[in-house]
Amino acid sequence: MGRVITIPAFSDNYIYLYQYGKGKAFAVDPADSSAVLAALRKNGLSLTMILSTHCHYDHVGGNLELKKATGCEVIGADTRRIPGLNRVVADGDIISAGPEQIHIIATPGHTDKDVCYYLPASADNPHGTVFTGDTLFIAGCGRRFGTDALTMWNSLNKLAALPPDTRVYCGHDYTVEDYEFALTVEPANDTVKQLLLKANQASAAGTPTVPSTLKQEKLTNPFLRVDIPQIRQTLNMLKSPPHEVFAELRRRKDVF
Ligand SMILES: [Zn+2]
Repeated sequence: MGRVITIPAFSDNYIYLYQYGKGKAFAVDPADSSAVLAALRKNGLSLTMILSTHCHYDHVGGNLELKKATGCEVIGADTRRIPGLNRVVADGDIISAGPEQIHIIATPGHTDKDVCYYLPASADNPHGTVFTGDTLFIAGCGRRFGTDALTMWNSLNKLAALPPDTRVYCGHDYTVEDYEFALTVEPANDTVKQLLLKANQASAAGTPTVPSTLKQEKLTNPFLRVDIPQIRQTLNMLKSPPHEVFAELRRRKDVF
């Protein structure tokens, strides 16, 4: 069975190992090599690949050491800025991990070269899994660096179009703050209120808030809810195009 092992790192990053086949795993954004090596040892796994979502140091900081220690491949789309990259992927590519297919979804926005990694539902992975890096967070999305709002909005829509049961594993735990922000623009959303309580409990207990599902995100994530009348009313943007509502939400979140 496919299995995701979540490794909290630094103050709010999530690193993931995805276990597949007999004792194999790939890692997503393994910025802390010693934490990853410890998790591999503890679970008796050998690392075959690193999947990098984007170039920021808190996502790729462990690439070179892990490549040296394990001989794994380093996969990503940002040819200039991902350390150790030796397999370049682009939108629409599919790579294999044992029985699993990993689809590359280009999601420019946070950087101009972000990608997400999507594993469709399979016998080993009944709901499907998407690793969203700093593009989609639980109830939030990444900051825009160097792309326009429409580009990022289109990227988020690609993720929103995946099957609703898909499990979402993101690159940071900003969950409590993101639910608090969601309530400033949609104060009557009871699902957000309930999930904020749960996220506060998880944060107090030190347990991860991942995974979410795309279904849950569509019910709670303001950046995927730009057509909801209450959000548009709060922003006084009843008739604006969706990507402009998105841009205004992102501006407000930047200073929240
Ligand atoms: Zn980043």
